[in-house]
Amino acid sequence: MKSKTIDPNAVASEIDLDWEGNNLAVKCVCGKVFLVSEQIHGGERTCPFCGKTKAMVQGGRKSGGKAMIQFEC
Ligand SMILES: [Zn+2]
Repeated sequence: MKSKTIDPNAVASEIDLDWEGNNLAVKCVCGKVFLVSEQIHGGERTCPFCGKTKAMVQGGRKSGGKAMIQFEC
């Protein structure tokens, strides 16, 4: 399991993810794009297509929040 911490200031330069407020959108290794929201999903969700990627978001991007992706390699 590999993990990647998302830099809140580098989101615009990352082609395969987005983060606004406490909502994070990521692209799984399978190609599926999925959303994880702190409000809707409790801040944690695995890829609904294959389950290989887990994305986590806590707090807002501009207010000291944290976001991370874990994936199989
Ligand atoms: Zn997937």
